[in-house]
Amino acid sequence: MKKDIRSFTIQQLQEEMQRIGEKPFRSRQIYEWLHVKLADAFDEMTNLSKSLREKLEAEYEICPAKLVERQISKLDGTNKFLFELQDGNMVESVLMKYKHGNSVCISSQAGCRMGCRFCASTLGGLIRNLTPGEMLGQIYQVQKISGERVSNVVVMGTGEPLDNYDNMVQFIHMLSDENGLHISQRNITLSTCGIVPNMKRLAKEHFQITLALSLHGATQEKRSALMPIANKYGLDEVMEACEEYFRETGRRMSFEYSLVHGVNDMPEDERELIQLLKGKNCHLNLIPVNPIKERDFVRPSRESAVNFKNKLEKSGINVTIRREMGSDIDGACGQLRRRYAKDKV
Ligand code: SAH
Repeated sequence: MKKDIRSFTIQQLQEEMQRIGEKPFRSRQIYEWLHVKLADAFDEMTNLSKSLREKLEAEYEICPAKLVERQISKLDGTNKFLFELQDGNMVESVLMKYKHGNSVCISSQAGCRMGCRFCASTLGGLIRNLTPGEMLGQIYQVQKISGERVSNVVVMGTGEPLDNYDNMVQFIHMLSDENGLHISQRNITLSTCGIVPNMKRLAKEHFQITLALSLHGATQEKRSALMPIANKYGLDEVMEACEEYFRETGRRMSFEYSLVHGVNDMPEDERELIQLLKGKNCHLNLIPVNPIKERDFVRPSRESAVNFKNKLEKSGINVTIRREMGSDIDGACGQLRRRYAKDKV
């Protein structure tokens, strides 16, 4: 089987070149073609001899993601992409344009096995992990297709990044590598549903990325009703892992809280959230839930979400309501992919 060359770090590529009897400097050239010039084929690598390109072709593959659909919001210019991977699996990526720069949201797995109640990405279960090259490839394609430079990356698309730990760590190394796109780790956010042992491992990697925890409930009971993973790793443990992340990295934690009307947006929820987060050096992002048709969750009114936010703010919590982007294009996260998956079966 051909090896996936876009998933190799520059050191690994160097070892490969040695193995096939090429000079070490070739690895730098090839890495630049793959990760700076964003080549999708060996034929594009014009400063390599034809015979070397043929040798590479015989041993390796680049596995570029193929664009299947692109939707562009008329409201705010948000782009949603559906890509087909080498083996036919589909993944979604989103480009959001902000004043401070362009942000891409990528998927880390095809499907997901975490089972959060309100999430469309988990409905069909996990199919497989994405490789580092497939995660990078989403950003590269978005950049190439849109012609926009990407400055921020959020791992908040389909999948649980800490359920694909080794590939995720390699991806972060490569994305922030000065020999590649060189995106500052401070501009990378990884969102997790709270896999405690891997949060602790991540803390020890000492990256400068932002870790966002999907909270969604301020008590063990509320949280586990929405997120099955909370039955495995309880709220106390998860909050302790957040403290550890902050201690190890000095990076302020981010919490995500999807507001579901009548479920976690009541006055008691405000009180419990305040109790949980008060005095902590953190940021809370409220996300009015994106309704999915398989579930009957609804979002609170704008007014009630603003009231919820104001109450927390008065208690000194650093809180924002996430601005909704691309509301006129294919709905909640994972829905574009799901529409295609349905057509196939
Ligand atoms: N698995 C990771 C990252 C993917 S989801 C995690 O759980 O954090 C990114 C965020 O979107 C998570 O906070 C997730 O709970 C939230 N989310 C998923 N579906 C949603 C929906 N329908 N409405 C609002 N937020 C949703």
